[in-house]
Order: sequence, then structure tokens, then C-alpha cells
Amino acid sequence: MSNMVTSSSPNSPQALGTQSADDFSRSFAMTTRLDAIVAWGRKNSLWPLPYGTACCGIELMSVMGPRYDLARFGAEVVRFSPRQADLLLVAGTITEKMAPILVRIYEQMLEPKYVLSMGACASSGGFYRAYHVLQGCDKVIPVDVYVPGCPPTPEAVLDGVMSLQRMISTGQPRPWKDNWKNPYDKN
Ligand code: SF4
Repeated sequence: MSNMVTSSSPNSPQALGTQSADDFSRSFAMTTRLDAIVAWGRKNSLWPLPYGTACCGIELMSVMGPRYDLARFGAEVVRFSPRQADLLLVAGTITEKMAPILVRIYEQMLEPKYVLSMGACASSGGFYRAYHVLQGCDKVIPVDVYVPGCPPTPEAVLDGVMSLQRMISTGQPRPWKDNWKNPYDKN
């Protein structure tokens, strides 16, 4: 009985493991820059707002689903309130009538915020060369990443998100965002 090593004993494997983990953690120090660790957190915790208006919106659903699983990139917390989102996913045709609403949503989002334009319609109006369709959402909001296709494959959308993550982690300048003005602002 006296030879038994219990989990509460100081010589138990569990206790020794904890002890060595403590010693190990005291043997080194991690250094980084504040902006680098903030960017690391930011790129791995994007909260997307899906602005799906047409078929690309359906394709976007499969990006979120279990097969492609955007959660692997830390961007699964989809929010339908702009005040809780920092990544606007524009997926589908934007009509001229809808454009001011898109701008209002963009303005209500949290800073720092990012925009990914998914598909031909969102990026350029697609095949709708018509008076009522906006010829690209970058006519009214600043777009960081364009994903081509009609519709883009889920892999292409994931690639777009990864490009955005690289942009965030390297702190790439975004003059299109810095110089953006609300086109509907009368002041
Ligand atoms: S780009 Fe193609 S798939 Fe996407 S909304 Fe336009 S027509 Fe639909």
C-alpha cells in the first residue's frame, strides 16, 4: 500500500508532467510585435456578413457547409447584423436600387472591415449590361478581394478568404479603403 503512487502523490506521473510543463514554460519567452499579434488574431477571427442576392449566395452556403467548412479558417461566425460583422461577402447581382442599402450596411459594420466580392455579378455586373444593375459593387464600396467565376467554386472563395488573411497579416496598405467616400453622401 505504501508503494502505491496515487494521482495526488508528488511523485505521480501526472504531477511530474505538470511540474515539467511548468519548468518548460519558464525556460523560454515568446516575443512578438503588438501589431503582428493583433493582425494574427484579426485574420483568424473574421465574422462574415453574407450579402447574398442571387445564385452566388447559394454557392456561398456550400462554402459555409461541412464539406468546405469556412470554420477551418476561423470565419464561421456568420452574422446578419452589420454591427457584429467585419467581413462583407457580396455574393450576387446588385441592382442600382439596392446599392444605397449595401452602402448603409457597409457603413454600419465594425472597423477594421473588409469586403470580398464573390462572382462576376458582384464584381462587374456580370452579363447584366443593363441600366438597372450596378456594374460592380466597387462602384459604391471599397472591395479588397475579387473572386472570379459564375459562380465561383467554393475553393475559389476559400482562396479569396486566404488572400484576404494574407493581406491582414502583412498589414498591406489599402488606399481604396482609406480614400473611400460614401457616394450617396450629399455633404
Ligand atoms: S455571377 Fe453567375 S452565379 Fe453569381 S449571381 Fe451572377 S449569374 Fe449568378
